[in-house]
Amino acid sequence: MASEKSLAIVLRVTEYSETSCIVNLLTREFGRIGAIAKGARRPKSPFNAGIDVLAVCQIVFINKPSALSILTEAKLERRFRAGERDLKRLYAGYYVIELIRTLTDEGERAPELFDLTHEMLVQLDKGVFSENEMNHRILQYELSLLDLLGQLPMLTRCVSCGREKTMLSEVNFGLNAGGVLCQTCRRGKPNVVQVSTTGFQSLLDLVGAQIGQQGSNSDNWNQAHQVKERQLRSWTSTTTEPTSVDDLSEIRDLIQLYITHLLGYPPKLYSFMKQL
Ligand SMILES: [Zn+2]
Repeated sequence: MASEKSLAIVLRVTEYSETSCIVNLLTREFGRIGAIAKGARRPKSPFNAGIDVLAVCQIVFINKPSALSILTEAKLERRFRAGERDLKRLYAGYYVIELIRTLTDEGERAPELFDLTHEMLVQLDKGVFSENEMNHRILQYELSLLDLLGQLPMLTRCVSCGREKTMLSEVNFGLNAGGVLCQTCRRGKPNVVQVSTTGFQSLLDLVGAQIGQQGSNSDNWNQAHQVKERQLRSWTSTTTEPTSVDDLSEIRDLIQLYITHLLGYPPKLYSFMKQL
C-alpha cells in the first residue's frame, strides 16, 4: 500500500500498548485521521518529538480510510510552547483542537480548515495579542470554523420562514432552529435567546453581513429589501471594528450556547478557559 505525506496537527495521543500509541491528527491533505504509531513509546522512538499534542509535524502514513491508518514518520515542524508562559493560551489551544475533534468527521478533506486552525494555533503560541483580543480572535475562529462546516447560524433572515430581517431590535435567536426567528415563528419555539441590539450588530459586523433597514419599532420583516450577500471576513482581518467587552462577552456566550446545542454537550475546555 502506498505511503502518503501531509502536514498535520496532533489532536490527541492515547496509549495503546507498552510500545505503541494511537494518535488523532488533523492533516492538511486528508482531513482528520486516526493512526497507530508503533514503537512510539520506546525510548528511541522513530517519531522523536513529533507526537505531542498541539505540535505540527510532517507525517508519512499508510492511509486506511475505513480503519486506523499506520503512522510511519512524524517529523516535528513546530511545538506549541504557549503553556510555558501563559496557561490561558494553552487552554485556548486545547479548546481549538477540542472543537476540531468534536465538530468534524474523520476523512473529510478540508485544507482551509487546516490552514485556519494552524494559523490560529501559531497566533496563540506567539501570544501577540491581549486577553480581550484573544477572546475576539477565538470568536472569529469559532465563526470561521462554523462557516467552513456549513453550520454558521442564519442572521439576516428568519431561519424558519425565510423572511428577510430589516431591523436590529427584537432579536430572537433560536438555538435549535439555528438562527434568528421572526416574531411569528418564535412563538412556541424552545431554546430562544434574546440578543441585545448592539451585540447582534457586532455579530453581523463579524460575519460581514448587513440587514436592510434599521430604526423601526415594529418587527418589520420585508422581502422587498435586498440583504447583502453574507461574506465572512477573513478571521485574520485587523480591520474589524473593535467590539466592546460587553458585546464580545454576550456574543461569545451566544456562540457557546449554539456550539453546545450542535454538540449536545458543552465543550469541556471552554469552561476551563473561563475560570482562568
Ligand atoms: Zn419567521
